[in-house]
Amino acid sequence: MKKLSTTRREMLRSTALGLAAAPTVCALAQFDGFAPQGLPVPLSRNNPAVQHIADNCIECGRCRLFCNEVISVFGEPIPDDEEPCIHCGQCTIFCQADALAERYDVPHAVKALNNPEKIVIASLSPAVRVSLGELFGIKPGTNVEGKIAAALKKAGFDYVLDTTFGADMTVMEEAAELVKRLNEKNKPLPMFTSCCPAWVRFAELFYPKLLPHISTTKSPIAIQGAMVKTYFAEKHKIDAGKIVHIALTPCTAKKAEILLPNQSAAATVYNKPELRDTDIVLTARELGAMLMAKKIDLKSLDDAPFDALMGTGSGAGIIFGSTGGVSEAVLRTAYKFLNDKDPPEDFYNLKPVRGLRSVRYAEVDLGIQKLRLAQLHGIGDTRSFLETAAKGKSDFTFVEVMACQGGCIGGGGQPKPVNLDPLDLKQLRLGALYRRDAECKARLSYENPDVKAVYADFLGKPLGEKAEKLLHI
Ligand code: SF4
Repeated sequence: MKKLSTTRREMLRSTALGLAAAPTVCALAQFDGFAPQGLPVPLSRNNPAVQHIADNCIECGRCRLFCNEVISVFGEPIPDDEEPCIHCGQCTIFCQADALAERYDVPHAVKALNNPEKIVIASLSPAVRVSLGELFGIKPGTNVEGKIAAALKKAGFDYVLDTTFGADMTVMEEAAELVKRLNEKNKPLPMFTSCCPAWVRFAELFYPKLLPHISTTKSPIAIQGAMVKTYFAEKHKIDAGKIVHIALTPCTAKKAEILLPNQSAAATVYNKPELRDTDIVLTARELGAMLMAKKIDLKSLDDAPFDALMGTGSGAGIIFGSTGGVSEAVLRTAYKFLNDKDPPEDFYNLKPVRGLRSVRYAEVDLGIQKLRLAQLHGIGDTRSFLETAAKGKSDFTFVEVMACQGGCIGGGGQPKPVNLDPLDLKQLRLGALYRRDAECKARLSYENPDVKAVYADFLGKPLGEKAEKLLHI
């Protein structure tokens, strides 16, 4: 594929980073002698996350350039039987013609809601609560979690749960795993995070030697699904086979993740191979479309609470939705596990890991030892980091990777920016998550009462036998 000039590449990259409003097709066409290339990114009909809508396509070819030059996926060598797509869905945000979209799963959700035999359970991701309001005319950067819970009840969901609970469980397991790697040197360092399925697929396609470095802990949605179909089902005496678990996410890659063979903890527990831990993923855009089709206006609703058992999240779980949030959340708990006491004050506002700068490095004193950290967001920058690290000696201990710029607040399934610079929009969403963290009574995952209860009543301890079976791959 013909490479772009540095200026054009920077222009595309700026758009992806949100440093400039998305240029129009005409503007790009005028730029640097750009001529329409005629071909979109080559998505197969079987792509589990993203689809190409040929009727809308104006064949400008910008998505190809974007995927090649910014995401650094299309055009790079991969195994013959693989599709050149990591499911991040950033092309759906970048395409000006609405010719790329998430695979549309609203009809499956509506069918489940209309089936009286099914118990339909929603789980709401942290980053969706600070973006969905934009589709209903609510000021960007507003946390509307109470309104979403009310809307979902109105739409007919039997239970509304909070994936922040799943994020807290991911923190517990990942922090325990990090401490074990540090103490026992049983697995290689640095440890890379595993919660972003687009990043994990990128590593599988392009850097398979890194796989032993990636945490075995499942992502928050994967853990949420496993717990819904086992712990929650058992506590409520519900047949897991009757549950339809719908994850409401900022993410297109989760649509692919829930189909993986390792997303079936309930199938193993009940010896029912047909069970999936999560049945349907709806992006924030799809959720907005479904509520609008049902004529439910988010703006007019009073707040409702999440349901019990898996409806409470800590501040640490909430900040999972932003780049740097996973590191901060995991370090708060790793400090506790290493020192047997709560972390000091600066762990509640870990400035070196926060913000939207492209690659951030930090050194954090965990008491017994110092950790060298890197926070990466955006796959293009991740590839550059890995190439540089491969050339020199890397002494990092913990590396967080999120495929989307800004983390999940900038996810491929989020509402598209309207009348607002994309970077400003990401800042507003990010600010809302950190404000929510600061307001939370429990800001440490191990202080979340629902997390305490699930370990006491069901799982035992982090990295225990049952936790390994249900929460790790
Ligand atoms: Fe999905 Fe978040 Fe990863 Fe983007 S950064 S692909 S939204 S998990």
